[in-house]
Amino acid sequence: MNRTHLQDIFTPGEVTQLKSLWKADRRDQGWGFICPLCRLERKVPTHPTPQPRHFAQILLTSAFFTLLTWTLFEWKGLVSFIPFWCIFEVIYRTRARASIYCKNCGFDPYLFLRDSDLAKKEVETHWRKKFEQKGIPYPEPNGKKTGRRATQTELKN
Ligand SMILES: [Zn+2]
Repeated sequence: MNRTHLQDIFTPGEVTQLKSLWKADRRDQGWGFICPLCRLERKVPTHPTPQPRHFAQILLTSAFFTLLTWTLFEWKGLVSFIPFWCIFEVIYRTRARASIYCKNCGFDPYLFLRDSDLAKKEVETHWRKKFEQKGIPYPEPNGKKTGRRATQTELKN
């Protein structure tokens, strides 16, 4: 039976224990915080604001664009930095906003800063939906009990 060079080096059990440098866990490089509502430790891959390396990347992109369109714009092509930055920032902030929403409790920090009442309603809607999926009646906050309270283990499952 022919064995390849890789099979001589690794047995299958060893291969699964190896960590590739290319597929390093990017969440380790992210931004961590504790959810203020459910106290779950959160790690998101993106920082809430763009970092200096993004500035350098956009600068390189606009320099490349300037070289590509040199016959049309010459040095004026560097002005392309502004629209590139605008497009980048809109996409980046949209992704950052979506990533910090807590899927465990439904708390949205951005929404809380803008309108705290709306954020509270969103959390309540999230929990109503979660209770509904489990088939458990939602405990009303005004004291009316529509059913038994759900235990923590029922909600996690
Ligand atoms: Zn949470």
